[in-house]
Amino acid sequence: MERAEVTFKPMEEYFLISENIIRKRKYKDDRGKWRNRLSPSAVLIGGYLTNYSKKTEDGGQTVCVRKYESLGKTLGVSHGTVANALAQLKQEEILSVPKRSSYLTNFSEVQYKYFLRGEPFFFTDAFTIKWKDPAGERRSEVRPLTVIEGLVLCYFYTKCGNKKKTNAFDCSYADIAYYLGISPRSAWSAVRTLLHADLIFCRAGEKGVNGRIKSTYRLNDGLLCRRKRELRRVLKNAVADPIEQAADARIDRERFYSERRFRAESAAERKKEKFSAAHPEYNNVERECDTLAREEAKAEALGLPGLPQLQERLAKKQREKRAFLRRFGMTEEDFLPHYSCPKCRDTGALPDGRACDCYFRRE
Ligand SMILES: [Zn+2]
Repeated sequence: MERAEVTFKPMEEYFLISENIIRKRKYKDDRGKWRNRLSPSAVLIGGYLTNYSKKTEDGGQTVCVRKYESLGKTLGVSHGTVANALAQLKQEEILSVPKRSSYLTNFSEVQYKYFLRGEPFFFTDAFTIKWKDPAGERRSEVRPLTVIEGLVLCYFYTKCGNKKKTNAFDCSYADIAYYLGISPRSAWSAVRTLLHADLIFCRAGEKGVNGRIKSTYRLNDGLLCRRKRELRRVLKNAVADPIEQAADARIDRERFYSERRFRAESAAERKKEKFSAAHPEYNNVERECDTLAREEAKAEALGLPGLPQLQERLAKKQREKRAFLRRFGMTEEDFLPHYSCPKCRDTGALPDGRACDCYFRRE
């Protein structure tokens, strides 16, 4: 595919589509039938924009600056589709447009916990799709994926890459259809295209047949990595729109830190959950500590009587908690997040307010 004429800078990295946007699509009408509020393109565009317009640490929000043209090119959709999708997103109050080409979304980072992960090239690159027609004749075509096919690829990209890192995921057409709010028929057709394009595969023994509805799908990691490398090479020479670029730089930085923090904090959370599951008594001790700490803070703030007694009880409980952990060779520190940068605790800001230099030292 000819790529020399790239005159915009599409996102080089992946983007996340919040599950909230996907869920927002579906609603039951008066007759109990599932309907969609948002078209697949609106889900894609809305999801993409939330990556750039999000709440920041200091309580503000970054504004995504994108012209219709570059938005369309980045995601491989037409000008009309962009306009249509933006109108739907405004209607559903997912998005507001404070001024021309500037978008504010209503999703905070907290709501980002569950998401689909996608790469812009899923929607812009041309893929070779090969299949045999009913007469057994070999056929092939080279074309970009449709928005639905791209979203189904995002689904596999996210699900196959998850948790156990087996690069495999079991699902049925109905699962995909339900998740993305598309018809099972569209899900079936999209899966077939992805299989024919070699983007995913399904081993002979792992196909869902006769009573086994779910199939095991695997992602063709090699092909996707190769495509991504090629794209990076081309993008080096791409010319960026200076206004869009400046707006993105700050957001890239924020995203970098919020992901690092999320990684460190969720690892710590998982560790604690694992310990609590193995030693349920620990939950009680911890809960009592929390309750006492709250009461103590309240008593102190309001000048209530009985503060010294509360402080004593809290200290005793905390000693009990530490002793409990010690029995298993643990300390409370073990449940604290291990930040990649201890200086700024993965916030990017030093205690005195200056910017930390770890962003420039990242790999
Ligand atoms: Zn730092």
